[in-house]
Amino acid sequence: MKCPQCGTEHPPETYFCFQCGYEFVPGSRAAFAHQQAPPPKQSVGGILLKTCLGMIAVGVLLLIAAYILLWSICGRMVSGS
Ligand SMILES: [Zn+2]
Repeated sequence: MKCPQCGTEHPPETYFCFQCGYEFVPGSRAAFAHQQAPPPKQSVGGILLKTCLGMIAVGVLLLIAAYILLWSICGRMVSGS
């Protein structure tokens, strides 16, 4: 599909010209712009959330390790005496 305004070649499923903004399908550019709106504060929040989740995971693992260690010590004490 060739843009009638600037002559740029586009794939057939293109709704509007990326070069000059000519709309093959009226109203598609606004819809695209709305769809492509960058997610606000996603990156910082995502990193914080990942760090928080990682810390929680490490904490849970440490708790489980301590629990297993405690149980093994208790078991040895019980069986040893
Ligand atoms: Zn064009």
